[in-house]
Amino acid sequence: MTRVRLKRQDRSRTARGPCGACKFLRRKCVNGCIFAPYFDSEQGAAHFAAVHKVFGASNVSKLLLHIPAHKRLDAVVTICYEAQARLRDPVYGCVAHIFALQQQEL
Ligand SMILES: [Zn+2]
Repeated sequence: MTRVRLKRQDRSRTARGPCGACKFLRRKCVNGCIFAPYFDSEQGAAHFAAVHKVFGASNVSKLLLHIPAHKRLDAVVTICYEAQARLRDPVYGCVAHIFALQQQEL
């Protein structure tokens, strides 16, 4: 049983299914997909759902194209954080965290 499960995992990793973004958007994940390095097909889809809802997939892809490749991971992490904060708190988003931190400081 364990061996079969491991084999299946290996195959899916080498065959490379759609990335989380393409999986969520139900589109074909092309070679060189801009989202593929940052959204895996497992948890990436859930993260991308938040990003798409708040910013829109095409806006995020345009934004990433303007950022040098070595800085894109930081941008994606920030975008995910902001999207999740905005869904939790639609009015203040991540500004609510900043207010909370400022209150601690005083
Ligand atoms: Zn993709």
